[in-house]
Amino acid sequence: YAQHQFGDAENDDFTLGGLLAKESATTQCQSRGLIHRLRVRSPYTPSPDLITKLRDYEALHQRCGPGTKSFNRSMANLELAFNTEGRHEVDGECRYIVWLAHSGLGNRLVSIAAAFVYALLTRRVLVLDGRSALGELVCEPFPGEVSWLLPHDFTPLLTLTLNQSSPYKFGLHLQQGTLLPSVRDPPEEDRKSLFHSSSASQPSSLFSYIHLAHDYDFFDKLFFCDKEQASLHQIPWLFLGSNLYFVPSLYLYIPEFRQELNRLFPDTDAIFHHISRYLFLPSNSVWSWIMRYYDAYLSKASQIVGVQIRSFVFPPVVHPHLAQQTLRCAEENNLLPKIAEVEGRETPLSPRNATALLVTSLLPDYSEQLKKLYADHPTETGEVVSVHQPSHEGHQNTQAHGHNLKAWAEMCLLSFSNKLITSPMSTFGYVAQGLAGIKPWILTAAENGEAPSSACSQLVSMDPCFHAPPYYNCDGNKGDDTSKILPYVKHCEDVEWGLKVF
Ligand code: GDP
Repeated sequence: YAQHQFGDAENDDFTLGGLLAKESATTQCQSRGLIHRLRVRSPYTPSPDLITKLRDYEALHQRCGPGTKSFNRSMANLELAFNTEGRHEVDGECRYIVWLAHSGLGNRLVSIAAAFVYALLTRRVLVLDGRSALGELVCEPFPGEVSWLLPHDFTPLLTLTLNQSSPYKFGLHLQQGTLLPSVRDPPEEDRKSLFHSSSASQPSSLFSYIHLAHDYDFFDKLFFCDKEQASLHQIPWLFLGSNLYFVPSLYLYIPEFRQELNRLFPDTDAIFHHISRYLFLPSNSVWSWIMRYYDAYLSKASQIVGVQIRSFVFPPVVHPHLAQQTLRCAEENNLLPKIAEVEGRETPLSPRNATALLVTSLLPDYSEQLKKLYADHPTETGEVVSVHQPSHEGHQNTQAHGHNLKAWAEMCLLSFSNKLITSPMSTFGYVAQGLAGIKPWILTAAENGEAPSSACSQLVSMDPCFHAPPYYNCDGNKGDDTSKILPYVKHCEDVEWGLKVF
């Protein structure tokens, strides 16, 4: 396989130290037994507690997942609940968290990972909205025959309003005091954004909609408080609308969650790293695409330096300094061979030390500029740098399968890098760094269109940033900066109001 990586037997453990179950190496999912060979070996080993927890989860999924008797019974109960009043039989073991798709692919993947962590903490079964087309991008993660995708015609998703203004929203029931007697008083600035509805249904004992997306309100955020969280325990069906990596806030006010997270993830900043490598293996069609590209452009290199350039300006405009800033970042931190000031150095005919610079961006311009620089100038050491960009889609187009396929394939290709330079605030970059298991250099955001004085800085923690954490102290019933509670849950390096695990 790769020249840029291994092929050594020592590294040939597709289970990643027991993270993945032993059986079914490649039967249905070709990437499962192979993808680890192309990635830098992870410095993090999964804890024995995490491994046991995953095997237990897999057994639970086999008993309760879509298509099983228990699932069908639970689903029939749920459907009955829409039509009739009163109590229904509840299967105590099989409780579900149904993930609903929001936003771009990076956001989707980080929120699925967070939902799975929540499922592990609460012994729920994670199932995904089958309409999200995720099944075409990633393999079934759990061994056995039971899928994690809901059937396309899963009635509740077709008939219920499940969004910020849902009458079934957990936060709305808290706001109206129909679920728990409310002791929480939203701060003045939160009151304006509250949704007022006189038509809230009574909370059902069978299901609830949890809204944890960027536009959630004060009462939705009480999901992260102990007492409110406890009231969800008996409800067999939770529907979750989220585009956020909300794991950091699970640590703060729910002691049981904190204890369990500490037990499962002693390397606190490797949560997403383990979970993403466990859950997200490219499907066979994506894997074919990845391998064609890899074999053609990257496999001969002795190292891959991945660069992800995401400029959040709309309509997309080329930021004139970004290619230069990337190069400055690489040179200042010895990530790439330096471009020589003067001509004259001979370049060997068959260079052994070739670096492949893999650029991903919606726009072609940055990689073109970098390619031109390396074509026009030799490097100081005579080492060769080749520049590659798999696609330039122009703009985000989440509804199109071919577009998402490329986005996902590029996240995977970036995860084969030896070193990474990524853009601030981008979940696309978070997924690549988590899968890669390396701490990227993050480009410093420009201010007022000016190139920043420092080109980039390396992340201290590899875990993704939670972009919209609550600023509320559940114990003190008051607004608060939640980055001060635990030494390892702090503001993010790239998003100053965000929260992440260090
Ligand atoms: P974020 O917006 O950077 O947090 O990442 P998301 O993945 O949630 O949304 C951005 C979406 O835009 C991606 O999912 C892709 O659809 C598209 N996109 C952004 N950057 C790239 C890129 O470098 N390559 C490709 N193929 N698509 C991209």
